[in-house]
Amino acid sequence: MRVLVVGSGGREHALCWALAASPLLAKLWCAPGNAGTADLAENVPIGALDIAALVAFALGNQVDLVVPGPEAPLVAGLADALETAGIRCCGPSAAAARLEGSKTFTKELCDAAGIPTALWERFDDAAAARAFVAKRGAPVVVKADGLAAGKGVVVATSVAEAETAITDFMERGRVGDAGSALVIEECLVGEEVSLFALCDGTNALPLGAAQDHKRVGEGDTGPNTGGMGAYSPPPALTPALQRAAFDGIIRPALAELARRGTPFRGILFAGLMLTADGPKLIEFNVRLGDPETQCLLPRLQSDLLAALLAACDGELAAFDLRWRPGAAVAVVMAARGYPGEVAPPSEIRGLDRAASVPGAQLFHGATARRDGRLVSTGGRVLTVCGTGPDVRAACDAAYAAVDAIDWPDGFCRRDIGWHALGRGQG
Ligand code: AMP
Repeated sequence: MRVLVVGSGGREHALCWALAASPLLAKLWCAPGNAGTADLAENVPIGALDIAALVAFALGNQVDLVVPGPEAPLVAGLADALETAGIRCCGPSAAAARLEGSKTFTKELCDAAGIPTALWERFDDAAAARAFVAKRGAPVVVKADGLAAGKGVVVATSVAEAETAITDFMERGRVGDAGSALVIEECLVGEEVSLFALCDGTNALPLGAAQDHKRVGEGDTGPNTGGMGAYSPPPALTPALQRAAFDGIIRPALAELARRGTPFRGILFAGLMLTADGPKLIEFNVRLGDPETQCLLPRLQSDLLAALLAACDGELAAFDLRWRPGAAVAVVMAARGYPGEVAPPSEIRGLDRAASVPGAQLFHGATARRDGRLVSTGGRVLTVCGTGPDVRAACDAAYAAVDAIDWPDGFCRRDIGWHALGRGQG
């Protein structure tokens, strides 16, 4: 199999790492990739959003399977363009990717399919949105309808905060066009987990679950980020709750999309709130998460490439995945200043020493090689994953590897996994 991975972060490095272990693989490319993917795949200088160039490359190089990491190319129609060209893509069509591209679309789908989610209302008009919030009171959640790179949600603890969010999104253009319509929601209470499902249009197979840490600071404080760490499996998601989420959320969503003639193929990521009334959907994403992938794939024992092909070919009914026992913890190392303006590129040393820590696996994000040296090129630079029999052991492996890395301009949170450890399940 000749495979092209699309993207350039830690998620894509982890995908390349898992795919490279497959006996089915003949050739691997990554577009555009990073210094880590370059060790496993041939990096191709094509941006993840350049759909025409990706399709032309795939055609010209007899690619059998394209594996997109990020959502933006899927929302923009990468899977459709590849299908027209006769190339498999393990990701949904633009029509099915609206699950991530439009909050209104997802909320309407939830209502149509009876999927439990927060009560909601849509607004195209700021005055009406303000009146609704004034009447409803706080806490309340204000969301930009479109794709906003993680910046489109405000969980407002006061009416004033909700009003500011409405003004920022609808009148100050804080997230551009994505904020021209809003969804305002009931605030759910509970523990949050991410559940992943590999889907073939009809069938869904669990692809693991994780909990992530979105805030930059220890104790889950400070500004939101793309993710500072994650661990898997999350103790809060018991097997019974996972079944409830598959039966009540994932499968009904697949059935509704299939009924509409827009079946979902690829990876469906359900952000869940485990409420007193059972799991409720916060959001769907149409791809793997970063850094969740970096702690999911080291736990996967089965051949990832075979599983992705089965999903593309509608053959998941007869498929099963095996997982390694134990836990994995992924710690993100970011450049100083992240998630604001980051330190300029600087050299990172000691990766070989870090990689030799038992149970540790390193994934690159924003890295490049310049004059033979490894340098940072952006915000989230490395993910250091530790595995072990439990979360405590996995944390110890991850942080032993972090401590072996010599990068004065980098930082990480030292408390990834604290929810699980605090439960005494470490
Ligand atoms: P989203 O982009 O929809 O995942 O929202 C980002 C974050 O906002 C989620 O991970 C939750 O922590 C929080 N959030 C979103 N919707 C709700 C809700 N209805 N109730 C409570 N928290 C929410």
